[in-house]
Amino acid sequence: MPETIDEQITIEKTKDPKEIPADDDLDFGRLFSDHMFMMEYESGKGWHDPQIIPYQPLEIDPGSSFCHYCQVTFEGMKAYRNEDDEIMLFRPDKNAERLNNSNRRMCMPELDPEFFIKAVKTLVDVDSDWVPSSEGTSLYIRPFIVATEKYLGLKSSDSYKFLIIASPVGSYYPEGLKPTEIKVETEYVRSVKGGTGAAKTGGNYGRSLLAQNQAAEEGFDGVLWLDGRERKYVEEVGAMNVFFRIDDTIVTPSLEGTILPGITRDSVIKILEDRGEEVEERKLEIEELAQAYRNGYLQEAFGTGTAAVIAPIGRIQWEDLNMEINDREVGPLTSEIYDILTGIQRGRIKDKYDWTDK
Ligand code: PMP
Repeated sequence: MPETIDEQITIEKTKDPKEIPADDDLDFGRLFSDHMFMMEYESGKGWHDPQIIPYQPLEIDPGSSFCHYCQVTFEGMKAYRNEDDEIMLFRPDKNAERLNNSNRRMCMPELDPEFFIKAVKTLVDVDSDWVPSSEGTSLYIRPFIVATEKYLGLKSSDSYKFLIIASPVGSYYPEGLKPTEIKVETEYVRSVKGGTGAAKTGGNYGRSLLAQNQAAEEGFDGVLWLDGRERKYVEEVGAMNVFFRIDDTIVTPSLEGTILPGITRDSVIKILEDRGEEVEERKLEIEELAQAYRNGYLQEAFGTGTAAVIAPIGRIQWEDLNMEINDREVGPLTSEIYDILTGIQRGRIKDKYDWTDK
């Protein structure tokens, strides 16, 4: 168990606040709010010196281990402004839990989950003017930990920094939900059994770029990853979990250590089950998906993740097989789940799950 952190978070406000763009001018992840959270860790001393300071470049020693060996973990979450102008987080306890799981996998120090939430809330509070209010917009929050020990030998670092930065983001779907076109990746893999696929750590993402770039050159929006051993089972779509409606059942790949356990995935499963849908978390062969398509049973497909919430899939290309799903239209279940989840996140729909945190 991580130690509790009793220290107060000190706050140093910027003397030079930036201009906050209009909601219509926001994109994703290029512009950051005025402040950031930072805290240090040293072996023997634990986490200490939590502070909010003006957003600024990090001073890093080029010999720091994270520059070389990718001993880094991160999270992705959002703050939403609801119709009563209150700011809400969505299941931040799950981000705290997942960060600690990633930290364990990467031999990095865990964080007190309550302190993690307090740090996020303090930053969001200081930068509350940066939380946009229009439909689909939010403040994207990126907590991350980097190994800072100056040492080129390969070992787990003795010192770390935990930071939180935040970026106001525009609507993912300014013109409404739009289906994506996906290529099944049969050469490169994202993750292998025993690897780091279930952790949110930088290397997983760097290594995914080549496949993503090649798919983009071929005109696709992204890739459907297969398992690293046999290229037989479906795992994830880009940096999202994936769901398929096959006849009357909704199937999503089971979490077997190679897939990131998405918080949106978990929420979607609960919402679907509550609606009386039959949800199967299990291994799903790409051949089974192809067979379902050929037999007319593959009715809907969508990705789930914090950034897009729900990303409908209109076409999947697997080698020579072109699977067009629901005539490339957004399926009824897909759009209903999107409405329910975004409704809960923005406070339009009563949150009977207690997922939102003000
Ligand atoms: N898979 C991967 C590889 C991801 O990076 C993400 C985004 N965190 C997800 C799935 C979706 O997770 P979540 O719903 O928690 O955003």
